[in-house]
Formats: sequence, structure tokens, C-alpha cells
Amino acid sequence: MRWTEKKPDFMPADIEAGFRSMGFLECLYVLNKFRSKPVIVLQRSVIDDVNEHLEKRNVEMGGLLLGRVFQDEDCPSDFFVTVEKGVQSSTFSSTSVSLEMSADVWDAAREQGVEGQYVVGWYHSHPNLGAFFSGTDRHTQRSFFNHRHSIGLVIDPIRNERKFFMGPESEELPVEHIVQL
Ligand SMILES: [Zn+2]
Repeated sequence: MRWTEKKPDFMPADIEAGFRSMGFLECLYVLNKFRSKPVIVLQRSVIDDVNEHLEKRNVEMGGLLLGRVFQDEDCPSDFFVTVEKGVQSSTFSSTSVSLEMSADVWDAAREQGVEGQYVVGWYHSHPNLGAFFSGTDRHTQRSFFNHRHSIGLVIDPIRNERKFFMGPESEELPVEHIVQL
């Protein structure tokens, strides 16, 4: 996968604002988990949209993830990321093993994002290859999604697998650090 444009910058939001959008049990869960590793809070509609997009064709496809970063002002190393929208790449050329996205997906993200939402990562499919990050994927992550909160989501729609990676070094996030709302 290759990119032609750098991501926009972002501003983290206060953690209390993030908790206001969640139920009590979800808040407790996130509070308990994000002290050791970041947490991703996913809206189910995003996963449904992304899955629907990636299941359409049996080739590698992808897009961007819009959301927000909430960090504890007293302890900035503690943060969680909400994923609120998936933005499909409308133009791409792909083979079963590679994919190029053009700059228009960044424009679409800017247009579709509401105030306070930023590009928090990217997603792509590995049809029947398994959900893992290839060397190219790690390179993409390091080059374009290199904030500590940057998410790399890879999905194999055929084997029904998914994995989340985070940060410039593409560290895999364990499933218990993914909260689905
Ligand atoms: Zn890949």
C-alpha cells in the first residue's frame, strides 16, 4: 500500500469528555485497562460499514478511520482512541497483494469528519491471507500513521479474522483492549 499525502495533525481531547459518551460499565472497563496499554473504543456501525466495504470484492481494499483521542491530562501516557467512522478509499488500484490509495481519501475524510474528529488510523483487507501486518504494512504505518495512537486495522473478510496494531512500531493490541459499543 502506498500513500501520497501526509496525515493531518490532531488535538487530543480531555478524557472526561470521552467517558461522557460511554455507559458506566464501559467507562469502568476502559479505566481498568488503559493504565497498562491504550484502549480502542469502536462503534459497531463502523465495523459493520468497514466489513461491508471489504466484503464487496475479493481483492485488497482499504480506507481511513476517523475518531478522537482522549488522554488523561494528569497522566498523558494514559489514553484511549474512539473510532467513529470509516472512510472508504474511492479510487484505488489493487492486486491480491498490494494496494494504492490516492489523495482523494484524505479529502473525503476531511469532508466527512465532524468537528473534533481526526484521522486516527487506516484499515485494509487481506482476503484469505489472514489478519497480520506485512513488512509493507509496517512501513506504511511508520511512514504515515506514526502517532502513538495511530491505529492499523487489518481484516481478512474470508477467514473472518481481524487485528489491531498501534503506533509507529505497529504494536499489536490484545483483544481485551478493544471495546465495542
Ligand atoms: Zn496488508
